[in-house]
Amino acid sequence: SYFLYRRHLPPDPFTEVNEALDLAEGQCITDFGLDDLKISNVLDRGRYGEVWKGSLNDREVAVKKFGQHNFESFSNERDIYMLPLVEHASILKYFGSDERIEENGSSSFLMALEYCPNGALMAFLKNNSLDWATMCKMCQSIASGVGHLHNELTKGDKVKPAIAHRDINTRNILVKADLSCAICDFGFAMKIQGSRFYPTGSDENDTPSLEDVGTLRYMAPEVLEGAVNLRDCEASLKQIDVYSLGLVIWEVASRTTDLYQGLPMPEYQLPYQAEVGLNPTFDEMQLKVSLEKRRPAFPRMWTDNNQAVRALKETIEDCWDQDAEARLTSLCVEERVLEIMQLWEARQKGVTPTIYSGTTSFGDGS
Ligand code: ADP
Ligand code: MG
Ligand code: MG
Repeated sequence: SYFLYRRHLPPDPFTEVNEALDLAEGQCITDFGLDDLKISNVLDRGRYGEVWKGSLNDREVAVKKFGQHNFESFSNERDIYMLPLVEHASILKYFGSDERIEENGSSSFLMALEYCPNGALMAFLKNNSLDWATMCKMCQSIASGVGHLHNELTKGDKVKPAIAHRDINTRNILVKADLSCAICDFGFAMKIQGSRFYPTGSDENDTPSLEDVGTLRYMAPEVLEGAVNLRDCEASLKQIDVYSLGLVIWEVASRTTDLYQGLPMPEYQLPYQAEVGLNPTFDEMQLKVSLEKRRPAFPRMWTDNNQAVRALKETIEDCWDQDAEARLTSLCVEERVLEIMQLWEARQKGVTPTIYSGTTSFGDGS
């Protein structure tokens, strides 16, 4: 397994990462082998990894640990973090990876990541309510993170390909100290280019199925139906992410006290919890989401005569449209959230937001 590791893990080429850790020029983080990594207590468990709190050269970090049998997931996630120009305020920071040999001789793979003190967004929403500004800040940071992934970027000789996350949900979004969010868990993420897609770190002959991943509750109707348009992979995979993003925004908005007009806020609910409960089967999700075209409901209290609230509902609906091609792009979602933030502020101040006339991205003259 040592050789497997060496073959798959070339040294990190990223000086940014090394600069962040004050390494000497030419010294790579993997040269350290994360020798200075200290691991303390477990934070949470995900589908493939176990996440621990730790420290690296006196910096607090999160340490994601993968067993030997989850090497593919580790390798895919690491390859995504190591792509050029991936660094972004809303993408979890990556500090390096290493292999450890357990007492029983088996390998485990470690990844040192930015530590987010407020944990996963799902748990945060369960335990907290938000005001309008925080809701907007969270949604804006999430949309900009997805937008950054989706965007192909070139800077000098560096090229960042478009990336689809493929498992956007509130467990794979973390809450930072300032309550902005960062996207994590790139175990299923894919580099995409037109009709070609590149699952990172695996051979062509064990390419994971395009349609076979994600979290059931957040799966787009076309995924549940097995009807993803494979002719334009790049667009299709982005549209699938935007559908899930719509559910995430609904989830964040549902915890926003300003939307309940002083009435007590109901308890946290997962998307579709009211429709399918806590443990839906694939068939139940397919029936509700694909065939009946149901979506999570908006509470009655979210009044339509408030322009900002109406714009918020419209944005969510335009993310989870049944017709994948009619969905917003993640870039557009971010712009809309910024407008929603300003619409609310203008209303609080009792002024008409003239700056939007003619330039608003909302369709109905709002
Ligand atoms: P998996 O691939 O196994 O699903 P994730 O990367 O999604 O693993 O992490 C699982 C959980 O661990 C998250 O839902 C979150 O609760 C916690 N977690 C992950 N990374 C961090 C971090 N950097 N800071 C704090 N908590 C984290
Ligand atoms: Mg996860
Ligand atoms: Mg994962």
